[in-house]
Amino acid sequence: MPVSPADGEDLAREVGRIYQDAEAGLLERLARLLADGIGLPGWAEQKLRALGNLRQAVEQTVIALRRDADGATREAIAEAYRRGDRAAVADLMLPEGQRAAALRALPNARAVDRLADAAVAEQQPVYRRILRAVPDAYRQIVARVSGGVLLGTRTRRQAAQRALDQFAERGIAGFTDRAGRTWQAASYAEMAVRSATGRAAVLGHTDRLRAMGQRLVVVSDAPLECPLCRPWEGKVLTLDEHQPGPQTLLLPHATRDGESVTVHVAGSLTAARAAGLLHPNCRHSISLYLPGVTRPPSSPPHPGGATYEDTQRQRYLERQIRAWKRKQAAAMDDEARRRAGARVRTYQARVRQLTAETGLRRKPQREQTHSAR
Ligand SMILES: [Zn+2]
Repeated sequence: MPVSPADGEDLAREVGRIYQDAEAGLLERLARLLADGIGLPGWAEQKLRALGNLRQAVEQTVIALRRDADGATREAIAEAYRRGDRAAVADLMLPEGQRAAALRALPNARAVDRLADAAVAEQQPVYRRILRAVPDAYRQIVARVSGGVLLGTRTRRQAAQRALDQFAERGIAGFTDRAGRTWQAASYAEMAVRSATGRAAVLGHTDRLRAMGQRLVVVSDAPLECPLCRPWEGKVLTLDEHQPGPQTLLLPHATRDGESVTVHVAGSLTAARAAGLLHPNCRHSISLYLPGVTRPPSSPPHPGGATYEDTQRQRYLERQIRAWKRKQAAAMDDEARRRAGARVRTYQARVRQLTAETGLRRKPQREQTHSAR
């Protein structure tokens, strides 16, 4: 069975979901707290007195979030490694008895721990950011609503809702990485875990192949190819890291019948990955290459005629759905909730149309924030 970084995506999504739930819970708390007594005199003073309580509540949310996210991250990475391992065992086509024995052997626990430690560490800045950003936003909203001219209740409410919407739009811990890209807390954490589960799945696969004395793999021909990986499609790569570059190998007596085979090896898997192959979100996979046995992979175009650009368009629409669901959580009253709900449905309809036209699969999990309401 081939292994792909995509094999761990569902596991990473679970971690993202934990963040989305925490985020929606915090937005709801902010909206409730701000709406409470907004028409009464002394509202601003009363809100500022409640700041300490809010800080405490945010701290508790972050403690729970961190505990859940750490556990889910470690489990996701271990499971991705096991999936890669099982895929390699299937590739090896071992006789039944050897197969069970192979699966009982312990995985490379230290490498799995290292990947998990790194993915857990990558999420730390998000917690610090949530702890700071939520009380900051609360204080700013109170200041903005109560500052300047004396406003009527309705105007106050609108001003607070507008500010809350902006906060929800950015995401409660909107985050800029070293490359200058901005992330939502949930998608940043999901991305960190997805890149680690992708690596773990491939590592589980290659560890197993190496342990069984195999060193060649072949890259799939994916129907929705990522431009970065196109040059590697159908290429044979070696697990030998010291492979200098493209090379034609003469493998004496490689086949079961003892025939010699020549194989053109495009380079090492390590070098191909350094050049981008099997990046996070990659649709490509690798599988064991058995000289003289493995046929070159080929895949027909996507049945609905979908392109890579269509998948990117779908990602954009999914992000819009999630943003409007956050605004729904941040709604101070039914009207705001209804308005945000209408936008959610509009974008959902556009996803439905896109998936119907292109034959792409709809991914409801990607459109979810939480289901409490
Ligand atoms: Zn790719």
